[in-house]
Amino acid sequence: MIQPDPKREEFLARFADAQATLDQGFARLPPSSQPALGEDAAIILREAAERLHDNDPYFHPLYAGQMLKPPHPIARAAYTLAMSLNPNNHALDGGRASSAMEFEAVAALAKMFGWPKHLGHLSSGGTFANLEALWIAGQLHREQGTSLAVAASDQAHYTHTRISGVLGLPFVSVPTDNTGRMDLNALEQALKTHRIGTVVATLGTTAVGAVDPLDRILELQARYGFRIHVDAAYGGYFTLAGNLRPEARAAYDAIPRADSLVVDPHKHGLQPYGCGCVLFRDPSIGRFYEHDSPFTYFTSKDLHLGQISLECSRAGASAVALWATQRLLPYEVGGEFARGLEAGREAALAMHKRLAADVRFEMPMTDPMLDIIFWAVKGTTVVQSSSQAQSIFRQARQMDLYLALAELPIRFFPEGTWPDHTGDVAHVTCLRSVMMKPEHLTWSDEIWRRLEAATSAVLGVNTP
Ligand SMILES: *Cc1c(COP(=O)(O)O)cnc(C)c1O
Repeated sequence: MIQPDPKREEFLARFADAQATLDQGFARLPPSSQPALGEDAAIILREAAERLHDNDPYFHPLYAGQMLKPPHPIARAAYTLAMSLNPNNHALDGGRASSAMEFEAVAALAKMFGWPKHLGHLSSGGTFANLEALWIAGQLHREQGTSLAVAASDQAHYTHTRISGVLGLPFVSVPTDNTGRMDLNALEQALKTHRIGTVVATLGTTAVGAVDPLDRILELQARYGFRIHVDAAYGGYFTLAGNLRPEARAAYDAIPRADSLVVDPHKHGLQPYGCGCVLFRDPSIGRFYEHDSPFTYFTSKDLHLGQISLECSRAGASAVALWATQRLLPYEVGGEFARGLEAGREAALAMHKRLAADVRFEMPMTDPMLDIIFWAVKGTTVVQSSSQAQSIFRQARQMDLYLALAELPIRFFPEGTWPDHTGDVAHVTCLRSVMMKPEHLTWSDEIWRRLEAATSAVLGVNTP
């Protein structure tokens, strides 16, 4: 028999309290005829719970694999609370209160990035938010009578190529250096040879957490003239962290001069999925969204979110959850939320150090830039290294340590790491870990103990 979990009891009690307050506001209405759950539903729910066992334990600190972070309990509670109304943030008619909360939550994000004026809204995720930013960029160029290309690094999120295809914009891939950051010489070359209208700077690449040098891209902008879109879906919140490397700090400090930005509260912002955000520094781009919906905008002459977003229906619950989380954990340098990001980064640095001291591993050219670490297994050939990384990945899972694998360019490692390498195998399978939970810092001894044991099981013990 499973023991009752005091935290769960507390969650349910506090949630019931908030639900009662919400219900009070509608108590004047005759009782509605909503069905009760009933015994059949209880059986199905138990079955669903059993089906869900077929997942890795994403909520637990021993899950240190992909970019998955559990929502904060207040986000879960606020989301569930809002679900009893299920507001739709397309129009004020469908979600007055939750739209107001969205405007406030988005303003808090804009303020965090140092944008005093902005236009922006939440979206279903980073992909759609990036689509909107590049759509606006394309519209602006069309206004000037041209169709110009989008340029992003070869480590930018894979969806940028697709998004450009959907929008009918040419796409230029810019090579990265040995640390995964956009190569500025390559960018300048591309600016000379292509008609580039927008450069996407990724602040925190999804694979390795590399931070493109936005400050230096702005110097090129002064000479060549182009729009800058910052894709900070994963890395955006690190602007609050006090422990960034100087070159990363310089990139974040340049954000106030970019034109548009995407950040995903459902990645580092402790939110359930379905919460991205796009911001524009110039509110006048709102003109491109103009449309006449014949049936949705009636109750108010105020701005409806659907009048400034491409998507129509959107969960108002996402805005309620984000708003509540921001109230509890405001975006302040040195505050609790910022300390959580700093802790994850510290955990990544500590783990990187331990890995570097172990002769069984090969380390990349650079320390982690944010909270993602990756490393390879020593081997005489790329093929052997890759296959041993896979074995350690599988062995670690047996020991309830959940890591990730990534295919990464061998140029991310010092030259000569794989003497056999003849140039035909450009990638090596690496182990990768996103240490994005604040608890990863206090769990780093235990994570290391399990990783060490898994490695020894595959490769034999470390004999220095
Ligand atoms: C995750 C991510 C995206 C895509 O965002 P989704 O929310 O998964 O749609 C885009 N860009 C970067 C840099 C990302 O990390």
